[in-house]
Amino acid sequence: MEHLKDTFKHKGRRRQLIAELAGMGIQDERILEAFNAIPRHFFLDLAFDEQAYTNMAFQIGSGQTISHPFTVAFQTELLELQKGMKVLEIGTGSGFQTCILCQLGARVYSIERHQPLHRSARRILDFFKFNASLFFGDGYKGNKAYAPYDRILVTCGAPDIPQELLAQLKVGGLMIIPVGEGAEQKMLKIQKITEADIQITEFGTFKFVPMLERTVK
Ligand code: SAH
Repeated sequence: MEHLKDTFKHKGRRRQLIAELAGMGIQDERILEAFNAIPRHFFLDLAFDEQAYTNMAFQIGSGQTISHPFTVAFQTELLELQKGMKVLEIGTGSGFQTCILCQLGARVYSIERHQPLHRSARRILDFFKFNASLFFGDGYKGNKAYAPYDRILVTCGAPDIPQELLAQLKVGGLMIIPVGEGAEQKMLKIQKITEADIQITEFGTFKFVPMLERTVK
């Protein structure tokens, strides 16, 4: 947070990353524009400043990592967002994905189980003047108070599909969630067809930090 300066160098590197993401198959111009509007180096320690626009994950404290830019772009594309949609994010982390969702016009509710990360995400969301609702809590349970959601985005590796989250998804809504018990997860797009029926589509293998129960102060 002490280095919120966007230089020509950063902007140049950011344009290269965006071209790289487009080359990797990200087609939605609005998403590429959002990546241009939200400087990723603002979310990282100064030590990673030079590498902020490479397609890599970095430590963000509390033993967690910011997701690869491609993963953020890919999950965002799978969400098929429209302006004004209510989105629940599990795993605020650095807040980068949260800001991308806000930039795209979503009404975002995001939950983080590590209090220091929750607090620093609050600061950076305030810096951008985004009014996402950030919660310190266990995302397994979702957030019933604001349910149902048009979209649910899980940014940590879940051992299974949390039923509580499914219950908080609107009929006709989508949940994007990496699911797998080991180090790797399958990216799933879950469409809620009726209260009782879902349709699952798989989108390749990814590596996320695990989704864990209980909060950490
Ligand atoms: N979107 C974030 C991803 C961070 S990594 C970013 O790009 O920075 C995933 C995050 O999920 C971690 O911060 C981790 O602490 C959090 N997490 C794991 N299990 C959780 C749970 N049950 N509830 C809420 N957050 C959780």
